[in-house]
Amino acid sequence: MAIAPASTGSPSPVVVIGGGVMGSALAYWLTRLDPTRAVIVVERDPSYQHASSALSAASIRQQFSTAVNIRISQASIAFLRNAGEELRIGEDRPDIVLREGGYLYLADAAGAAALRRTHTLQKTCGADVAILEPAALAQRFGFLNTADLSLGSLGLSGEGWFDGYTLLTAFARKARRGGARYITGVVCGLTLDHTRVTEVILADGSRLACSHAVNAAGPWAREVAALAGVALPVFARRRTVFVISCPALLPGPAQVAPFPLVIDPSGFWIRPDGRHFIAGSSPAEDADDQPLEPDYAAFENQLWPALAHRIPAFEQARVERAWAGYFEVNTFDHNGILGPHASLENLLFMNGFSGHGMQQAPVVGRAVAEMILHGRFTTMDLSELLFARVAANQPLHEANIIG
Ligand SMILES: Cc1cc2nc3c(=O)[nH]c(=O)nc-3n(C[C@H](O)[C@H](O)[C@H](O)COP(=O)(O)OP(=O)(O)OC[C@H]3O[C@@H](n4cnc5c(N)ncnc54)[C@H](O)[C@@H]3O)c2cc1C
Repeated sequence: MAIAPASTGSPSPVVVIGGGVMGSALAYWLTRLDPTRAVIVVERDPSYQHASSALSAASIRQQFSTAVNIRISQASIAFLRNAGEELRIGEDRPDIVLREGGYLYLADAAGAAALRRTHTLQKTCGADVAILEPAALAQRFGFLNTADLSLGSLGLSGEGWFDGYTLLTAFARKARRGGARYITGVVCGLTLDHTRVTEVILADGSRLACSHAVNAAGPWAREVAALAGVALPVFARRRTVFVISCPALLPGPAQVAPFPLVIDPSGFWIRPDGRHFIAGSSPAEDADDQPLEPDYAAFENQLWPALAHRIPAFEQARVERAWAGYFEVNTFDHNGILGPHASLENLLFMNGFSGHGMQQAPVVGRAVAEMILHGRFTTMDLSELLFARVAANQPLHEANIIG
């Protein structure tokens, strides 16, 4: 799908609604690709207290089930490895503390065939992943109980974790340096003129004329879409992250390095985090908009038993603290929804990443900037992720959703 590019020197700015990692990555790419372009980012909470980008586990993997997500990850890891240089201001280089510790997907008998299928696709796309049989798993990761495992898939490079908050603030800082204006305000309305958005309206009554409006409102994107009468299948679903210490498996230099981000067949994930570990699991009941308080009962009832079964040393696990944030879950197909809505040519979306938005922001930010500036994707074709697929009821299901 092509949209009308903004004319250079247009007096109306691109108005980005939401200044999290998506909105800030977009603002960065817009100002970098066209320094003359006026960009305003409207963010209601500059402290990002509830923003997903500040509450993220900020991990990146190549192990997806759709080729487009694998391609995005390959480009994203290249950006993240070079983030200090890409986002530096003078000699001040942000350090996102990227650790390429790998992901280890584990499968029991029921999941082994699917793991082999996705492995084949990942290899075809050039991902650096290896299949491990149970004996190899036991040898390489001595802390695992492999009794009920049939297979594992390990990312050998290009997977790991980083400091997501630093990435967010580095994008925002560099965007500001490039001329983007950040405004504190709540977007509460959009003025429509047939097929276009002409103004973004703030709760204080101010009106921002715009060449394009971009919905980068994360878990609150459905509410913003509704301001234009658009139904967006994105819902705020609470996820708790537990910070865990484990005296029997102390992450020291010898043990942290080989401890990857483990994805268990039961649905939990765990990875090292400094001196501790962080872990989470899919909630048994997944209601919308729950208050952002950690679900401590889920640790006792669900996560701990599964964790201690897979890694017996975690019998002695202790929860040091916990936090909760919202996944912006796209219930249609669990993939990002990008670009314009068919009936509103200059209202663009970058929403619904369902737990993999932090790692995709560097690439998605550039792709949406290209749509605005050139009317089409010029670096990487992300047409499969366009909003049009939702309208056409043609889902692109991502099977590898975590938590
Ligand atoms: C616990 C947890 C773990 C995660 N782990 C990973 C991971 O390992 N890897 C990964 O890739 N992703 C992960 N994610 C997902 C990732 O963090 C998100 O996909 C990403 O941060 C989304 O960024 P965003 O900018 O769209 O949303 P947000 O960061 O939520 O930003 C949206 C912003 O919009 C603002 N806003 C909303 N409505 C309005 C309005 N009306 N007016 C003005 N401002 C408004 C909000 O204040 C907010 O700051 C995780 C998320 C959570 C919660």
